[in-house]
Formats: sequence, structure tokens, C-alpha cells
Amino acid sequence: MRVGAGEAAIFDAHLLFLQDEALLDPATDGIPGLGAAASWRGAVSELATAWDELDDPYLRERAGDLRSVGRQVLARLLGVEAPHGQLPAPGILVVADLEPADTIALDPASCQGIAVAHGGPTSHAAVLARALGIPAVVGLGDQIIGIAEGVTIGLDGRAGVVHIDPPSSTIALLEADRAEQLDRERSARARASEPAVTKDGRHISVMANVGGSSDVAAALAAGCDGVGLFRSEFLFLGRDTMPSEAEQEEVYRAAAVELDGRPLTVRTLDAGADKPIPYLELTPEANPFLGVRGVRLTSARPDILHTQVRALVRVSADHPVRIMFPMVATLEELRTGLTVVGDVAAKVGTAPPEVGVMIEIPSAALAAAHLARVAAFFSVGTNDLTQYTLAADRGNEHLGDLADALHPSVLRLIAMTAEAGAASGISTAVCGELAADPAATTLLLGLGVEELSMSPPAIPSVKEAVRAVDLDGADALASKALACATAAEVRQLLTV
Ligand code: PEP
Ligand code: MG
Repeated sequence: MRVGAGEAAIFDAHLLFLQDEALLDPATDGIPGLGAAASWRGAVSELATAWDELDDPYLRERAGDLRSVGRQVLARLLGVEAPHGQLPAPGILVVADLEPADTIALDPASCQGIAVAHGGPTSHAAVLARALGIPAVVGLGDQIIGIAEGVTIGLDGRAGVVHIDPPSSTIALLEADRAEQLDRERSARARASEPAVTKDGRHISVMANVGGSSDVAAALAAGCDGVGLFRSEFLFLGRDTMPSEAEQEEVYRAAAVELDGRPLTVRTLDAGADKPIPYLELTPEANPFLGVRGVRLTSARPDILHTQVRALVRVSADHPVRIMFPMVATLEELRTGLTVVGDVAAKVGTAPPEVGVMIEIPSAALAAAHLARVAAFFSVGTNDLTQYTLAADRGNEHLGDLADALHPSVLRLIAMTAEAGAASGISTAVCGELAADPAATTLLLGLGVEELSMSPPAIPSVKEAVRAVDLDGADALASKALACATAAEVRQLLTV
């Protein structure tokens, strides 16, 4: 595209941002703890938010320019193509595929929705889009790519449908639905900092899923009771070397300090499968989702696990840190992890932190009674549990309907886990995407789940859903759902 001198001057002004100390100083200071990409992203977001609040309309508009420059630089830092999210005007982004690195560079102010040809609803990119509060519909097939620029698209993120060039009556319905949803979200946000207590007085911890310490502020603003899932792999992505113990300690400590006494649950590195880390030089695998990922990888590479656990144990001496192991399939794996935590804590000279298990492989749910005797808590990862129970790749757009976390077989495994946990006096959380769906809240509590953890934007609505729960009714609903034969029957129960 050719542009004139006026437009070129805009780029000169953009370059000036890159000399601004208010941006460069915090970005540089954060590099040792956060890594360059996260530090840059945090500094841009903080400064742009401050500009958004200025009285001068000219300066307020510059916030958008700053975000745009920020995305370009972030793309370079992450080694990805300049992000697709640079829409010339607010609109819906249509792409063939969405990578996690592209997704984090999208700007919710200009990207109003994402329509993706490939991928499943719980792929990591879709999870990240939700964390940014951007409605996304995935797995639409290649025909979506052929849609001409400028055609109106009605996107219904909740129903997972897009309407191409819809009639005005459909647009009116979608807009009315959106307005109603925004209204509900606004009133939920007004009560977000209040505790989530069921009608019969049970307090439910509503926790946040975060990808780094820079997400904690947004999680607290959304009213979280703590962090239920810190996906530590994001510390390892987008860089050339493994983060050192000191770097990791600084990041975990920053999150713990910001949480100010609320629990911080850190999952040990869950790399492999769709989150490859090039510098770990992992052997290519034919079936990466069934390969060396999660605890399997960290057992094969004790250096990674020891470094991470040492950083966590040091922080746990001063703050309520919980360690959680991903992809545990057997009791032996949990025992090995517990031994590492115990040994490291003894060397550091502090009490070991609580160690919990993610229940995301059917064998772990089936062995929950044994795991519960040694674990301090359970957290069900419904994204992977669904994928492995139904043998349906979570990233495969052709299997989106099959990979349904509300399938009765998945629900039975959740109930089995919660029951085994309760029998041993440990709590069961859900930290997969199902926890973020307010329509599923009553059912999950009825299945015996005591804690829910989700992307920050979902917290206020789920807290509202908890406040509407009556636990006797929830038990009855869960019994009915467990007796269902299909996911469709369960969905039917949730809509009546
Ligand atoms: C899950 O599998 O449900 C989960 C929370 O972990 P992740 O989505 O990061 O695999
Ligand atoms: Mg998982």
C-alpha cells in the first residue's frame, strides 16, 4: 500500500514512542523477571491505560497508536509475523489458524471477534482469546477464509456460530442479545469483589487462571480469590534459553506479593504437545498429545523440575504457594514429584508447600482414591480430561462437537474425583474451560466441586452464578446429569 506524507508522519510519531522513557524504563526493568516479551507487553499496556484516562482527547487517541506500535515490537520479540490483529478499523478478524503467540498480540479494542477456520474450542489459542475477552468461534472450515473483506459478519461467541451477511432481523437479534449480555456482565462486575456464596451459605473460591505475574492485576480487578492455575509454561515460551531459578523466583514472588495473602497455585512446566519449547530440543513425536508432556517431560529432565521447584519453594516460605503437577497418570508419578518437593524443601530449609494434582487423564480420575491419600488437593483440567476421555484432539476442528466437557462420561470422572477427594478430606477444583461457563456452575457444585478457576474475564459472571445456587437443587441436577446417556441430554438439563 502506498501512503502520503501525512501518513508517513504518523510513523515518525510512532517511532518517537520508542524513545519515551516512560515506556522504555519499565520495559527494560522488567526483562530479568518477566522476559522481554512479557515485560514489553506489560509496559505498553500500563502506559496506554494511563493515557486512556487523560482529559486531553488528542493524548487519549495516542493510546491506540501506542498499542499498535507495541504489537509490532511484540511480534518481533516473539519472532512471529506482525500480528493479524492490526485491523484498520474495529471489526472481526478472519484467519485460517490462530497461534498462541498471535493471540496474545491482539488488541481487544480493535479486534471485536475472531472467526477461525481451524482449531478446537479449548485449543490454547482459543483459551487465550477468551482471556483477552475477545469472542472467538473456531473450527469454521476453509470456506470462512473466502469471505470478502468488508462483508458483514455476525459472530455469536457463546453459541459458537457466525452469520455471513445476515439479514437485518438477525443483526437486530444478535445486537439485542449482546446488549443484554453486556448488561448482565456490567451488573456482575459491580459485585465482583464480593465473595461468591451459595444461597445456602457455602463460600466457593473463584480463582483465576493466569499466564504470568503481569496477569495478576487484571485477575484481582475481576474479583478473584487467588490464582488457581498459573500456567508456568508461558515463562518458558518466546525466549531462547530456560528461565533461571532467580528469574523464576522473581516472577512467582511478584505474583504472590500482588495476591497479598491469597493462594497462588503454580502448575509446573506443562510443555510438549501444542506448546513446544525449541531450546529444550525435544525429540519429535508421532503423537505429541500422548507423548512426553507435563510431568513426563519434567521427570525426563530433572534439571527443569528441580530449578522450578527450588524457585517455588523459596517463595512458599513467605507466601501461600501451592504446587500442582500436570498430566499425572499414575500414583508413582505423583510420588516422584512429592519426593522432589520434599527434598528441595529440606535443602532450602523450609516446610514443603502443598502439592496437588491436575486430574486430566482418565486413569488419574479412576485412581483418585489412591492419589487423594498423598495429594493436598485436586484440580480437574476438563480440557485435557475431555480430550483423553473421548479420544478427541482438543485442537481438531472436526471433533469440536465430540470433545464436549459435558459428556456424561467426563462428568462421571469429575464426580468420582470429587468423591474420592472428599473421602480423604481434600478439595477438588475445576480449572479447565468448563469452570468458566456460568451455565455449568450449578452442575459442577452438585458434582462435589468446591473451587472454580478460570480466565479473569469470566470471574464476575461465575461468581453471580454461584450466588444463585441452592446446593440441594445442585445435587439433584448432578444426579440427573450423571444418569444421562449423551452430552446433548445434559445440555438440555442445563437450559431448563
Ligand atoms: C486443562 O487441560 O483443562 C487445563 C486447565 O490445562 P491446559 O488447558 O493448560 O492444558
Ligand atoms: Mg491440561
